[in-house]
Amino acid sequence: MAHREDICAAMVALVDSGLNRGASGNISVRDGEHMLITPSGVPPRDILPNDIARMPLAGDGEWEGPLAPSVEWRFHRDILNARPEMNAVVHTHAQWCTALAVARKSIPAVHYMIAAFGGSEIRCSDYATYGTPELSAAVLAALKNRAGCLMANHGMVVGGENLTKALWLANELEALAHQHFHSLLIGGAHVLSDEQIAETAQGFKSYGAKARGESA
Ligand code: 13P
Ligand code: ZN
Repeated sequence: MAHREDICAAMVALVDSGLNRGASGNISVRDGEHMLITPSGVPPRDILPNDIARMPLAGDGEWEGPLAPSVEWRFHRDILNARPEMNAVVHTHAQWCTALAVARKSIPAVHYMIAAFGGSEIRCSDYATYGTPELSAAVLAALKNRAGCLMANHGMVVGGENLTKALWLANELEALAHQHFHSLLIGGAHVLSDEQIAETAQGFKSYGAKARGESA
């Protein structure tokens, strides 16, 4: 399980890599029957480990901590409850993802790396106001069988088995959005088939670090 320090460092990394700015975005990590979640409205460099809030996954907004949790605690809680394989959730307003999301465009299989998300398409969710149960429902629907989705007129969210994986997926999703956006400017990508993506997903099972028995 990631420590509070890891969550603080991850928030700073998202700003440094251009995926977030100001106080946009948030991170949660499963902590047994609870989740640790970043505080609301605090720029990442100002978040101290003890500022990370703790909330029961079975709760309805109760929190412990000196600072109130992210306004997006509902979709973090609902993803962690609905998706037991996910232990970390990362939400950003990354520019290329958001450019597609304001146009309500999903991402087709423009690059084989989309297989890392569990299928041939990254969906764009329906729009709902930030922080609402409606947004949470829209995000959960768009995330079905996927490790990430775009959020209409807002940004994107990814979930991974741990925080390292979720951060990696956040960067990969932004890369896919960048590639798709630019391919549209030159006539559109040649989209890979479901079979090609399934074959890639199969290959990923033995690719790289995992071949040495390490986890992703
Ligand atoms: P918080 O600062 O409350 O986490 O909100 C940022 C955000 O991205 C809302 O969607
Ligand atoms: Zn947001």
